[in-house]
Amino acid sequence: MLAAFATVLAGLVATTAPVEAKDSGCGRTNDSVRKLLECVTLDGVLEHEEAFAAIADANGGNRAAGSPGYEASADYVEDRLTRAGYVVTRQTFNVFSWEEAGPSALEQTSPDVVSYVEDTDFAATTHSEPGDVTAAVTPVDLMLGLGNTSTSGCEASDFAGFPAGTIALIQRGTCTFELKAENAAAAGASAVLFFNQGNTADAGRQGIPAVTLGNDYTADLPALNATYALGAELAGIPDLEMRLFANVTRTPTTTENVIAESRRGDPADVIMAGAHLDSVPEGPGINDNGSGSSALIEVAEQIAKLKLPNRLRFAWWGAEEAGLVGSTYYVNNLSDDGLAAIEMYLNFDMVGSPNYGLFIYDGDGSGFGLVGPDGSDEIEALFERYYAERGIPSEPTAFSGRSDYQAFINNGVPSGGLFTGAEGVKTPAQAEKWGGVAGVAYDPCYHSACDGIDNLSHEALDINADAIAYVVYLYASRREAINAE
Ligand SMILES: [Zn+2]
Repeated sequence: MLAAFATVLAGLVATTAPVEAKDSGCGRTNDSVRKLLECVTLDGVLEHEEAFAAIADANGGNRAAGSPGYEASADYVEDRLTRAGYVVTRQTFNVFSWEEAGPSALEQTSPDVVSYVEDTDFAATTHSEPGDVTAAVTPVDLMLGLGNTSTSGCEASDFAGFPAGTIALIQRGTCTFELKAENAAAAGASAVLFFNQGNTADAGRQGIPAVTLGNDYTADLPALNATYALGAELAGIPDLEMRLFANVTRTPTTTENVIAESRRGDPADVIMAGAHLDSVPEGPGINDNGSGSSALIEVAEQIAKLKLPNRLRFAWWGAEEAGLVGSTYYVNNLSDDGLAAIEMYLNFDMVGSPNYGLFIYDGDGSGFGLVGPDGSDEIEALFERYYAERGIPSEPTAFSGRSDYQAFINNGVPSGGLFTGAEGVKTPAQAEKWGGVAGVAYDPCYHSACDGIDNLSHEALDINADAIAYVVYLYASRREAINAE
């Protein structure tokens, strides 16, 4: 398949008559791909990043789902894309708006009296319900130590004999925090104290886990997240009683996806590219995911006036951080014809990490064994080609289910995209390849207040904005379907 595609592509680049660029920023007509890439600039991307940073500053420091910061971000995208000539719609859906109302608390009340430190030892679990509970603590099916394969709280049987009214002490691992908490509630727990898995020495598996309960969480329990070290320590204390205070609010509200569609091109042949627009409540989300959102605006603006055979559809998703809510809602509400018309979905979630890696979603499963729907391998190959043509090393990254491609993959849509790394730690070999610092997270400010305008690699943003333009343009220009027999 790849080989055939490569030949076709070469033909396309070399021989296809250049697409007329009518009074777009591109202007010249000779080599469309190269011309477009000249027009897609780092400054163009940063203009939007600065707008999102200013929006966060003006709205309590975040652009989370259901917040005024998100609303202003959506207004900004709508305004830019409308002025660029796209048909823009806003798709509304229900979501919980979650935020911290003040300092939470975690205390040991017996056998000793100890107060733990917020944001050092513990933090409120995103989408926890509010609550202040003092009770005995019951460990649930824990498996401590490096290399552990914890399934704590994943099975109802883990709660056999669980004393109702106590606080469940649950370890990260294997299943979602939502499932663990729903199981704890069903067993009569009064609250949940989660702690990190500790299966590796990486900070991401030792520190306070940046894990949410998600938008679909229905149990009424307060919950806090603690470090692995604290969890393991508490697990060893007999007759432990604690106070757990989740000082948060969780309010049902609505939010939106922003969808921008080109006016030309075959509506039965849609090239779709998306990026989530929301941040976590903890910070402005300028890398996660102002970077993907901004790169898409820049590409959409620079490609807007080109006459392309296929239809272009860009999406800025709402409530990704609450559990891929907006993209899932979008796909679940497509008609059969609507779904069939989408030839592929390209996802861009974090494309400017400060200590970046250049990762491509592993469509053919060669790296991680998770193969995408038929055609995803071609998308991966085209991104690989973009980097290889420029002598830039890249690596595959798994379809881990942690971003907005998931609903598309679940419905058989060929998918792909780019990622520059989150809490994962850069290896010495990767530092050799891309520079940066080995032993440090790709994004040390992941899901934090410091994910601001200075938390970007301009180099990665520049490379990846062009990569996005390259792939979007080539697929929008191509007449045969991605997995044509
Ligand atoms: Zn993200």
